[in-house]
Amino acid sequence: MSQRVIIVGAGHNGLVAGALLAAAGRQVEIIEARDVVGGLAARETFAEGFSTVGLLHDASRLRPSVVKELGLSLERRPRPTVCAPDGAGGLLRIGDTLEGATPTDASGLVAFRRFVNEVRGVIEQLMDSPAIDPRGSLWSLFRTGWAVRRLGADRMIHLLQVAPKAVSDWMRDEFASEPVMAAIAQPALDGLFTGPWSSHTATNLLVRECLSNDEVVGGPAAVVDALIAAAKAKGATIRLGERVATINVEGDRVTGVTLASGEERKASAVVSTLSPRQTIVGLVGHVAAPHKLVAASRTWRVRGTTAKLDLALSTAPSTSAGAPVEELRSGTSLAELEKAFDAAKHRRVPDRPAVIARFFTGQSAPQGKATGSVLIHAAPYTIDGGWTDDARETLLARTLAVLNESLPGLSDTIEAHRLLVPTDIESQYGVDGGHIHHGEHAPDQLLFMRPSIDCGHHATPIEGLYLGGSSTHPGGGLTGGPGRLAAHAVLKR
Ligand SMILES: Cc1cc2nc3c(=O)[nH]c(=O)nc-3n(C[C@H](O)[C@H](O)[C@H](O)COP(=O)(O)OP(=O)(O)OC[C@H]3O[C@@H](n4cnc5c(N)ncnc54)[C@H](O)[C@@H]3O)c2cc1C
Repeated sequence: MSQRVIIVGAGHNGLVAGALLAAAGRQVEIIEARDVVGGLAARETFAEGFSTVGLLHDASRLRPSVVKELGLSLERRPRPTVCAPDGAGGLLRIGDTLEGATPTDASGLVAFRRFVNEVRGVIEQLMDSPAIDPRGSLWSLFRTGWAVRRLGADRMIHLLQVAPKAVSDWMRDEFASEPVMAAIAQPALDGLFTGPWSSHTATNLLVRECLSNDEVVGGPAAVVDALIAAAKAKGATIRLGERVATINVEGDRVTGVTLASGEERKASAVVSTLSPRQTIVGLVGHVAAPHKLVAASRTWRVRGTTAKLDLALSTAPSTSAGAPVEELRSGTSLAELEKAFDAAKHRRVPDRPAVIARFFTGQSAPQGKATGSVLIHAAPYTIDGGWTDDARETLLARTLAVLNESLPGLSDTIEAHRLLVPTDIESQYGVDGGHIHHGEHAPDQLLFMRPSIDCGHHATPIEGLYLGGSSTHPGGGLTGGPGRLAAHAVLKR
C-alpha cells in the first residue's frame, strides 16, 4: 500500500503521469470511468466506417520532455497549410509563406514567425518547469526573469509589449489585411471566454504558436496508443469502465478511492486528472476538504464555448485549383470573430460561428472518402432556452453555411454527421463545463494560479492528493505537461 498510486482518469495526462510513476517504481493503477482509454484524445467511430483521430484533432503540442522521459517513438510530419477565406471569394494559403496575400502581409508573416521562434525557448521553459512559486524560493522567479533578460533588450521589450495585448491589436501591428489577421488570430480564442478584442488574448496565441511543432502522424489517437504501450510496459495497470465515486481522506491525508461499484482501493497517493471542482467538491466532499480549498474549487471558471462537429464525407475537400484542403479557418475579419463571441456572451447561437476544421483521409475513412473534424468556437455551454433540437439544428446549419462559403458543395458530400455541444461534451466525456481545457486560460487561471494558489504546484493541501489534468499548470491541450509535472510532484514528496 505504501507505494501504490491511483490515477483518476485515463486521458492522456493520466497515462503520462501513470507511466512516469510506474517507471519510477510506484505501483500504479489508472482508473477510467469510460470503456475507452485516452479521454478526449481517444479514437472513436462516429458513423459506420468513419472514425475520429480523437475528439481533438491537433497533435502538434505534445511536449518533447514527455516524449524523451517516456522514450516514445512517434512519427512526425509538418503541420498542414492553413486555408482561409481571402474576403474576395478565394482562399489564402498560410504555411511558412503566405500565398494569395499582399507583400505587406507576406513580410508580416515572416516577422511574426521570427518573433515566435525568438521567444519560443522562454515559453517552453515556463511550460516544462513547475510554476513560479511566489510564496517559496525566489529561484524560479529569478530563472524565468533571467531567461527573459537573455533574449536581449529589444526582444524582451517586444515580448513584454505583446503579452498583455488584445490579439486584434497584435495582428494590426503585424499585418495589413483583415482576412489574414482573422485567420492567424483565430486559435487565440481556444478555451477563452473572450473575443479577439479583449486584452491578454495575444498571450494565448503566442503560447500556442510557441508550443506547436511538427505534428504526430496518426493524430491524438496515435499519441494515446504510444502512451498506453509505455504505461503498460512500465508496469501500470489500467481499469476501464470503473467510475471513482469518492476520494477517501482520513485526518488530513488521502487513503485511497471508492469506486461506484462500492469497491475500495487503498493508496498512499491519488492523482486526479479531473477539474478542481469535480475533484475537491465532487469526489473529496466539503466535509473532508479544507474550507478554503472547497471555496477556491467552486470558483474555478469552466464556461465551455466550443462545440464539435464530426463529418463523414464522400470525398476529401479541395481548392478550386484542385489542391487538398487539410485545415480551414473561417472569418474574414477580426470583427466577425468578435461578433461570434458577442452572441456566446449573450447566450445565443452566433450568426456566423468561428470554425477551425481539419480534414483526414486514410485510416479514419473508407478508401476515397474523408472525415471532417470541426471545432466551433463561440458555441456557449448555456444558451437561452437550452440546447434543444432546434438550437442544435441552427448551430449545424450556420456552421455548414460558413464552411460552404470557402468549400462550395461541401454539404452535398456529407454522408453522416455528429454534433456535440458543450453540455454533451460534459455529459459524455466527463469534462467539467464541457470546457476544452478543463478551465479557462485566463490570466488569473494560469501558472501558479492554475487551478488555485494552494494547488498551483500539483500537490493539494490534503497530504497525498495531487491534481494532474488540464486544469493544472501548464494548462490544456495535448501536451502531457500537467501529467508529467504532477508525477514529478509525487516523486518529490
Ligand atoms: C472538442 C475539443 C477539441 C479540442 N481540440 C484540441 C486540439 O485540437 N489540440 C489540443 O492540443 N487540444 C485540444 N483540446 C483540449 C485537449 O483535448 C484537452 O486539454 C486534453 O486532451 C485533456 O486531457 P486530460 O488528460 O487532462 O483530460 P481528459 O482527456 O478529459 O481525461 C480525463 C479522463 O477522466 C475520466 N473521468 C472523468 N470522471 C471520472 C471518474 N469519476 N472516475 C474515473 N475516470 C473519470 C474521463 O472519462 C476522461 O477519460 C480539445 C478539447 C475538446 C473537448
